[in-house]
Amino acid sequence: MAECFFHTGRPAVARCKQCGRPLCSECRIIKEDGIFCSLECAERFSVFAKRAEELEAKRNKESGTSGLIKFIIFLVILFAIYLIIRRFL
Ligand SMILES: [Zn+2]
Ligand SMILES: [Zn+2]
Repeated sequence: MAECFFHTGRPAVARCKQCGRPLCSECRIIKEDGIFCSLECAERFSVFAKRAEELEAKRNKESGTSGLIKFIIFLVILFAIYLIIRRFL
């Protein structure tokens, strides 16, 4: 394993989840989100995670809407076919 980013010669026990810096047991900051080298990294990661979550939620919402639109188009096509068939009968 690599040595600590802040202490030369001290073996790293973890890596910052945000920037990937190797950290010794003294330098690591343990948060509920993971292990970080600094509070800035922890903050940045939580912002990033929150944004990713929002993006995911937005994507799910959009795919739900497009699914509904597809279903409506399908019904319209079905209705058009019904009208065409009725004209021939
Ligand atoms: Zn970091
Ligand atoms: Zn250290």
